[in-house]
Amino acid sequence: MKAALVIPPYEDFYRTPHRSAPLGMHVVRQICEAAGYQTVYYNFPADAGRGRTLKLPEYLSYLKEVMVEGEFGPASFFTRYRRWGADAHSCAGKIMASNPDVIMISCFAYAYSDHAVELIRALRDMDSRIPILAGGAGVSALPDRFASADAALAGEAEAVLPALFNSWGRRAPSREQVCRHSADANLRSAQADEIIPVCIRTQTGRHGSTYSAAITRGCPMHCSFCSAHLCHGSGFRAPPLELAVETCASSLAQSGTSGGISLNIEDDNILAEPGYLTALLTELRRKYPEMSVTAENGIDYRFLDIPLLDKLISLGFCRFNFSAGAMIEGDRRIHQPELLASLTRRCAEQGIPSITYAIVGYPGDTREQAVAALAFLASLHSLCGVSPFYAVPGIDGFTDTAGFTSLPAALCAGSSLYPWGGSLSTKELATLFRISRIIHMKKHHALNPEAREVLNYVMEHRKLCTMKGPERRIIELDEPVIDQRLSEEFFDITRNLETCRVPGSVKEQLP
Ligand code: SF4
Repeated sequence: MKAALVIPPYEDFYRTPHRSAPLGMHVVRQICEAAGYQTVYYNFPADAGRGRTLKLPEYLSYLKEVMVEGEFGPASFFTRYRRWGADAHSCAGKIMASNPDVIMISCFAYAYSDHAVELIRALRDMDSRIPILAGGAGVSALPDRFASADAALAGEAEAVLPALFNSWGRRAPSREQVCRHSADANLRSAQADEIIPVCIRTQTGRHGSTYSAAITRGCPMHCSFCSAHLCHGSGFRAPPLELAVETCASSLAQSGTSGGISLNIEDDNILAEPGYLTALLTELRRKYPEMSVTAENGIDYRFLDIPLLDKLISLGFCRFNFSAGAMIEGDRRIHQPELLASLTRRCAEQGIPSITYAIVGYPGDTREQAVAALAFLASLHSLCGVSPFYAVPGIDGFTDTAGFTSLPAALCAGSSLYPWGGSLSTKELATLFRISRIIHMKKHHALNPEAREVLNYVMEHRKLCTMKGPERRIIELDEPVIDQRLSEEFFDITRNLETCRVPGSVKEQLP
């Protein structure tokens, strides 16, 4: 029996390859192989290099107002909409060429649902007999969107798939069997001892190897903007520590003896059990004393204090990505500005770079709160970025999911700047995004000459600007591209925009 495991193409303004490790699909692969399936694997976005530039889709045409054609450089907004992966028909042809008995489609973000559904339809057009299953975080948000699959599975693969495979027996299932049995595969979270931890190599270069890992599942924090619970539930669970150590250690062993090892932990909130994380890292550092560690999915700083921060640094953390959330009054996630400020200060004292992201445009946000949030980010010993709020069906305020099926799923990407919160407009979100890039540059320890020139211009004229054209001109931005008054409000309250420089060599992380 053969299962084709597929990560479909998707479209967006940017892609972060080092954050795109197919960790969920590796869990599925292990479950399939344990059930006796031979697996073939298609990761279409990963094979697509820098992607193919597309005309901006009609449903995103509202972004034209805030885009500047031909702009580039460190102060720019998005300019090119791209597709990672060939057209659906070509991808379907490749999959069918392997003669699978069952096809498993993974959709890791709801915003990319339509591209996954397009591929499912192309596969169905080519063969009407092979069962197609869809799963992943994107499917968990709104399974109804995947009605063209024979099974749209919400929840964690470890909890859902083994029972399904059992119900089919030892023979490849028919479409009817898949439909019938998947109806019983209700959303359930895996028990701690069912979790399959994964750690995979994502890059190898002259300087060593980088790995991504997903060890624990779930987060108990219930942040209202977060969709993690839709797939993983709200209970934190960790697999037996020995299994996590063995999984990571055997994967890291592939790097041999040359070069460094860098481990990125992608868990939603591994700090929900700090002792587990420190024990895991202690064991791994015993075997790999030079290993460096990051958590690029973001760390909930509210679980940290200075001793724990110091401990993590001593265990190899070389950079911190802090999530500040939506720093607005009355939000369930209580923001602790003094704690965050002390943590970023401590990082700087220890020579460790950090970057802090805040969400803007959440329901209830205001221009004043958003400007205050950016001013706060500017005051931290940390690089910064803003994440425009986007809805996902099922999160707080969006539990009535009926309206989502008639809207393009791509509107639920952060880069689409759709005014989901009803609080800030697309233009205001784009202006805040551009301001955050200026703050980021102001804190950066080593700007290139071009970035320095842009920054100097902004600080001297107190106006947002960008670079454009073959002669690489600086041009000032004005209405209607930016909200001029919002930009003035920011420069008024930050005066000379005094910021703290951030140490170390941190990779540019804004797209
Ligand atoms: S702490 Fe992070 S993972 Fe947990 S609910 Fe909040 S945003 Fe989601």
